[in-house]
Amino acid sequence: MDAYQLHPIGYIRSPYKQKFAIPRQPRLVPDAKARLEFCQEFCRPDFVRGIEDFSHLWLLFRFHETADKGYSALVRPPRLGGNERKGVFATRATFRPNGIGMSAVKLEGVEYKQGKLALLLSGIDLLDGTPILDIKPYLPYSDSLPDASAGFADTRPETEMTVSFSEQAEQQLHALPQYEQMKNFISQVLKQDPRPAYKAQKEASQSYGMSLDDFNIKWTVDGLHNHVTEIKQQK
Ligand code: SAM
Repeated sequence: MDAYQLHPIGYIRSPYKQKFAIPRQPRLVPDAKARLEFCQEFCRPDFVRGIEDFSHLWLLFRFHETADKGYSALVRPPRLGGNERKGVFATRATFRPNGIGMSAVKLEGVEYKQGKLALLLSGIDLLDGTPILDIKPYLPYSDSLPDASAGFADTRPETEMTVSFSEQAEQQLHALPQYEQMKNFISQVLKQDPRPAYKAQKEASQSYGMSLDDFNIKWTVDGLHNHVTEIKQQK
């Protein structure tokens, strides 16, 4: 069998420090900002000359956290409530042969400082530290296919979940310089209902925790409502 060696061209620095709560696809949480920091070999502006002309980019990356954990022919897509199986190549599952992922993300800017090159991105669905294998511009005339059908994932996953913040959480947010941005970000993540599909079917009120950036966030879920109870900066 042919074998190939791939080397990252850079790494993602993202607010998602754990898999839990990462949206299932890019752009579902538009305020999810990240940096793509190029490896030294690619830290030359020539490598990205002209890239600002593109609003969106394709990132090809390695699912580094799960890539060596194997794969199965059949997987259970969360969109189907975790109950039905589909072929791995009929899904965007993370556990797959070669462990390669692809995400179309928004390019917010290019930064070149003290010999270091980075792309500023938003709408990402990637774990902090994700190795990037390649970048290509998103081409609307070819990549956007309004007539395409997508089986069980035909529509954007909308939830009717709402979000509120306790007085304590509001106070903790207000102490932050990035108050508005952080509040929108947390709200967008929770509206996506990050709970695993099977948990979402449970009715009882439960509490959950996630880390975003260097914050620990706690919330309770009651039916379709998320209530943020605590936002604590990690030490
Ligand atoms: N848009 C990509 C694709 O279609 O190839 C990723 C889709 S995948 C369903 C999205 C999930 O991948 C996220 O919710 C997160 O749990 C997981 N994920 C993101 N970055 C990862 C990484 N570096 N290693 C393993 N899993 C990752």
